Amino acid sequence: MKLILLGAPGAGKGTVAKMLTAIDGSVQISTGDILRGEVQAGSDLGKQAEEFMKKGDLVPDSLIMGIMEKRLQQPDCAKGFLLDGFPRTIPQAEALKELLAKLSIKLDMVVSIDVPRDVILDRLTTRRTCSNSDCQAIYNVKSQPPKQEGICDKCGSPVIQRDDETVEAISHRLETYNQKTAPLVGFYEKEGLLKSITGTSSDVVVNAIKSELGL
Ligand code: ADP
Ligand code: ZN
Repeated sequence: MKLILLGAPGAGKGTVAKMLTAIDGSVQISTGDILRGEVQAGSDLGKQAEEFMKKGDLVPDSLIMGIMEKRLQQPDCAKGFLLDGFPRTIPQAEALKELLAKLSIKLDMVVSIDVPRDVILDRLTTRRTCSNSDCQAIYNVKSQPPKQEGICDKCGSPVIQRDDETVEAISHRLETYNQKTAPLVGFYEKEGLLKSITGTSSDVVVNAIKSELGL
């Protein structure tokens, strides 16, 4: 499957994407995970992205498009991909449209995951992420804690609260989402690709996507 997952931070894009990869071997492509990996590795790209990310600002479109142009041409994308956290702005969506045309790739659908704001806020403040950039498993101190406190079940690395998950950075990210990313819903509606799903449970969202795709 070739999907874009849209939704506010905390809507569950990452969780849904991980569940979908198990169905048909499509790969999850999270620009946030890629960027955090670059920051951890101390690469040039990471250095350019770091300050924007800490504040909860978007990283410049040109950096993101450079990442995605390379990523979408890697062989593991042939089976399918789930774009999680990209595109995030209208210029990114337009550039992606051109890139996909150039690579002769056709999207199946753009899924907008709609979750009420109070649920989002609660989830983001209680969210914890594995600090290992190759893992980045997601936990929640209330609903899904790791088996051993502070330690990732999958890889044993420390589980941490992200720098951009302070209350200030979170409200800034949500504001940025409303201003810059929410307009993508209209963009993809016009393209005839949009499917909106309201659901606070990732299982419900995954099942709705499966039935929409006839899986
Ligand atoms: P969330 O969806 O929980 O906000 P992500 O992990 O997707 O978080 O992204 C974390 C940060 O990485 C964003 O706040 C932003 O700074 C940067 N980022 C990720 N994807 C993009 C993108 N497509 N365009 C610009 N910045 C991005
Ligand atoms: Zn881990």
